[in-house]
Amino acid sequence: MSDKPVYKRVLLKVSGEALMGSRDYGLDTAVCRRIAEDVQGVVSLGVEVCLVIGGGNIFRGVAGAASGMDRAQADSIGMLATVMNALAMQAALEKAGVPTRVQSAISMQSVCEPFIRRRATRHMEKGRVVIFAAGTGNPFFTTDTAAALRAAEMGCDALLKGTQVDGVYSADPRKNPKAERYTSLTYLDMLARDLAVMDAAAISLARENKLPIIVFNIHEPGAFTAVMKGEGRFTTVH
Ligand code: UDP
Repeated sequence: MSDKPVYKRVLLKVSGEALMGSRDYGLDTAVCRRIAEDVQGVVSLGVEVCLVIGGGNIFRGVAGAASGMDRAQADSIGMLATVMNALAMQAALEKAGVPTRVQSAISMQSVCEPFIRRRATRHMEKGRVVIFAAGTGNPFFTTDTAAALRAAEMGCDALLKGTQVDGVYSADPRKNPKAERYTSLTYLDMLARDLAVMDAAAISLARENKLPIIVFNIHEPGAFTAVMKGEGRFTTVH
């Protein structure tokens, strides 16, 4: 395979849980550093990279609502959690030598920029990684949907979903040793089989915009770079 990346511009979605490492809650800065090194590797290939970071390691609106909180209020807390994660990833990326900007869908101008699509495009053209924080800025959505939305807005060639395993399986491979990994799936397969990789709103948005979703293992060092070269293990949804 050639060393040339297959993609020019991609969005990587990292869940909040991925940043937790082996902890039960919050951030593991060593994990942030490791993921930042992988992003640095992809940037050094000449790929323009933007990120959407989840917040499930800190707070999920659904859990807040289940304990009696108003759902929209709880979702605001969830969105603020993603801003904390985004700032932590920015710190890790800048330590790895990658110029980075955070843009939040909820204005918070003393810590980061507001989301301005054209400005984000300019940052990416200049080789900066842009981290989109606060999801879509609306309650009742997820950061997976925010990832599909931002990837479409930014004209990305692919939406990368970094997960705990190296693709989409017929069952949870950590529980069922007979689970099979798919190399390729259609959006409709994902929706019809209710494969718990991304929510239906995110998949539908990707489908409408013909945006391929690539599912790979975020915890495997070098996997992100391999995927960018069309190598390694992953599932493509298209
Ligand atoms: N959230 C929201 N609107 C959005 C994105 C996220 O209200 O557009 C809230 C929601 O409460 C969600 C929380 O932010 O539970 C954290 O995001 P998510 O659960 O998607 O994070 P992940 O599972 O990726 O860590």
